Amino acid sequence: MASIKVGIVPVTPFQQNCSLVWNEDTKKGAVIDPGGDLPHIRDAVAKAGIRLEKILITHGHIDHAGGAAELAAELGIPVEGPHRADQFLLERLAEAGMAYGMDAARPLDPGRWLDEGDTVSMGGASFEVLHCPGHSPGSVVFLNRPLNFAIVGDVLFRGSVGRSDIPGGDHAALIASIKAKLLPLPDEVSFICGHGPGSTIGEERRSNPYLR
Ligand SMILES: [Zn+2]
Ligand SMILES: [Zn+2]
Repeated sequence: MASIKVGIVPVTPFQQNCSLVWNEDTKKGAVIDPGGDLPHIRDAVAKAGIRLEKILITHGHIDHAGGAAELAAELGIPVEGPHRADQFLLERLAEAGMAYGMDAARPLDPGRWLDEGDTVSMGGASFEVLHCPGHSPGSVVFLNRPLNFAIVGDVLFRGSVGRSDIPGGDHAALIASIKAKLLPLPDEVSFICGHGPGSTIGEERRSNPYLR
């Protein structure tokens, strides 16, 4: 477990935190949310000297999923996630890409939909899948309890929560997801979020104004 490493590559005009999770012993790993800017991702993978085995997707928005189909085809690796409730977003990634100046975005048909209680592996480490709808209906969080580490996509941020003013968003559902599934986790659980700096569950439980 101690040999699991994590890297962040900000991608797209939205500065989305594409993440790399790999095993330093085997050099095998996963990329989470390759939304675009594939050259940046390829550079980071090469620098870390790792071999990508799979792509994981937290939710279907363009900045998280827009580059996944191209990267999966290029490397011949599978895509897992998000929850099937985001299928409508994945089918419209090309249109979303046009709207945001990301012309390379392609629709995505993941080989595996994820649901609450599923597990996924990254670099040989097992992560639980938490279905946390609200920012989008199919948003999932990846949690590794032994490492006290999570990747939360756009569900929760340092001092904030995900937007819910986009199609499929539901603020009440989002707050309910966070309160039911994330706030009960131990204080020490640190997380990477989709944009900006990460935080810990303890810090957000104490100070996040949206979770009072
Ligand atoms: Zn999003
Ligand atoms: Zn985002």
